[in-house]
Amino acid sequence: MINGNNIIACDYALADNESFKAFDPSTGAHLEGAFQKANTLMVNNALNAATAAFKVYKHVAPADKAKFLRAIASEIAALGEILVNRAVAESGLPVARLTGELGRTTGQLHMFANLVEEGSWVDAVIDTANPERTPLPKPDIRRMYSPIGPVVVFGASNFPLAFSVAGGDTASALASGCPVIVKVHPAHPGTSALVGQAISKAAKETGMPDGVFSLLFDDGYGIGAELVKHEQTKAVAFTGSYHGGMALLKMAQERKSVIPVFTEMGSINPVVLLPAILDSQAESVAAKYASSITLGAGQFCTNPGLILAVKSTGLDRFLSALGYAIEITPSATMLTTGIWKNYASLSDKIIAEPGIKLIAKSTAVNTEKANQSVAAIATVGASDFIANKKYSEEIFGPWSLVVVCDNIAQLQQVIESLDGQLTTTVMAEKDELSKHTGILNALADISGRVILNNVPTGVEVCAAMQHGGPFPATSDSRFTSVGTGAIYRFVRPIAWQDWDDSLLPLELQAANPLKIWRQIDNNLTKD
Ligand code: NAP
Repeated sequence: MINGNNIIACDYALADNESFKAFDPSTGAHLEGAFQKANTLMVNNALNAATAAFKVYKHVAPADKAKFLRAIASEIAALGEILVNRAVAESGLPVARLTGELGRTTGQLHMFANLVEEGSWVDAVIDTANPERTPLPKPDIRRMYSPIGPVVVFGASNFPLAFSVAGGDTASALASGCPVIVKVHPAHPGTSALVGQAISKAAKETGMPDGVFSLLFDDGYGIGAELVKHEQTKAVAFTGSYHGGMALLKMAQERKSVIPVFTEMGSINPVVLLPAILDSQAESVAAKYASSITLGAGQFCTNPGLILAVKSTGLDRFLSALGYAIEITPSATMLTTGIWKNYASLSDKIIAEPGIKLIAKSTAVNTEKANQSVAAIATVGASDFIANKKYSEEIFGPWSLVVVCDNIAQLQQVIESLDGQLTTTVMAEKDELSKHTGILNALADISGRVILNNVPTGVEVCAAMQHGGPFPATSDSRFTSVGTGAIYRFVRPIAWQDWDDSLLPLELQAANPLKIWRQIDNNLTKD
C-alpha cells in the first residue's frame, strides 16, 4: 500500500468493492493497478491534517515555499518516461502532447516558485498614521493578501498533468500558502498516483508539514461531494463540465459556511471572420482552423466551437477548404468512453436539427481502436442560431458550427445573444478592424481573452494570462486559473491596524529588506 504523506492511494491487493481500475481508452482494456476508493474517514483525516498543516505552512518563509515547489518539479521531471507512458495509456493522448504537458507542469511550478520568492504578489500596502489629522487622527493601516486555508482541487480529464494533481490549481494554491487535497480524476488514477507520490516526496525532502498535500481516489461523485461540503474546506477549484461545476457550486452554497468555488466549465470560443480576410486569405484561415478544431480530438476548453461570418464568396471558399481538411482528418482516441459517447450523441443530434446543414465529417476513422472521435463541421443561419439556445451549447470534441450572417449588424446581434466565454477571436486584415469597433467591443464584453489573428487553442502560462470569462465559462470572471494571477483565488486581504513593526508579517514591516510594499502618501489621504 502506498500511504506516504497523505497519499491515500493504490494497492495491488485490494478487493474489488474497495478499489477501481484504470482503462486504456483506445482498447477498453484494464491497466495495471487498483486504486483504493476513499471513504469518509479518509476525507476527515485529510482535512484534519490539512487544517493542522495550514497553521504551520502559512508561515513558511517564501524562499522555503519556493524550494518545495521546485522540489515537486524536480521529482515530477525525474519520473520522465514512466509518467508520460502511464498518462498516454490512461488518456489516449499522444506521447508528444504529454511530453509537452510534462514540461508545462514543471514550468508552472517554477513560475510560482519565482513568484513567491520575489514576493510582490502579496500586494502589501503600508498606509501610515497621521496623528495630526483633524478632527480625528488617522490610524496606521497595513494590508496584504494571506492564504485562505485548505483547498480542494478536482483533477481535469483533459490535462492529466498540467491541470491535474500537480497542475495549475495545486501549484497556485501551494504557492499561496494553502494546503491542498486533490480528488483524482478517475480517468487517470495511475498518473495521479505517480504525481501524488512525487509531491509527497518533495514535501518530506523540504520539511513541509504533514498534511500539506493529500490525494484521494474515487470513481464516483461521493467523495468529491463530501470534500466540498466539509466544514474544514476553505476553497474549491474545478475544471470540467457545466453540470459538474454547477453541482459543486450548489453544494458549496448550501454549506453552513459558504466558501468560494472556482469552476471552469468550458466555452464555445466564438471566432469572427471579417470580410476582407475571408476575401484575401480564406484558404489559409481554413487550414489554421481545421488544425485548431481537431487538435487533441477537440478536447480543449478553448476549442473554437463557433465561427461567425457574413455571406460572401470568401466564406464559400473558407467552407470548402475547411470541409476538405475536416474530411481527411484522422480520428483520434477520446479521453474516456463517457466523453466519446457524449460527443457522438451531441454531434449527431445537432446535425439532425432544423436549419443545421452538415458541411463535412471525417471519413478517416480508425475502426481498430475504441472511442474514436469523428471531426465534423456544419452551418446554420444567424436567425435560426439566435432562436435556438441549444445551438450555442458546448459540444466537447472536434466540432464547430459556422453561423452564416446576412450582414455585419446581424453578426453583432449573434455575438450579443451569446453567454460568457473563455475566449473570443477576430480574424481580420489590419485595416478593416477600425470599421468594426462595435464587434470588437461586443466580443470583449462576453469573454476573458480577445485574440487577434490566431487560434484560441494554446493558453500561454504567463503573468498577464486571463483564463476565465463571464458565467457560465467560469463561476467568477474576476479570476484566472492559468498564469500567476491564479494565486489570487486562494487568498484574502487582511488589514492590520496600529501594530508595531515587529509583530507584523515581514512583508508589512517598514524595515522589510525586500521593499515590496506600496507606501501611501499621507497628503493624499488627508480629509
Ligand atoms: P466532469 O464530468 O465535469 O467531471 C470532472 C470531475 O468532477 C470528476 O472528478 C468528477 O467526478 C467530478 N464531478 C462531476 N460532477 C460531479 C458532481 N455532481 N458531484 C461531485 N463531483 C462531480 O468532466 P469529465 O468527466 O472530464 O468530462 C465530461 C464532460 O466535461 C466532457 O464531455 C466535457 O463536456 C466537459 N469537460 C470540460 C472541460 C473544460 O475544459 N471545461 C474539461 C474536461 C471536460 P467523477 O469523475 O468521479 O465522476
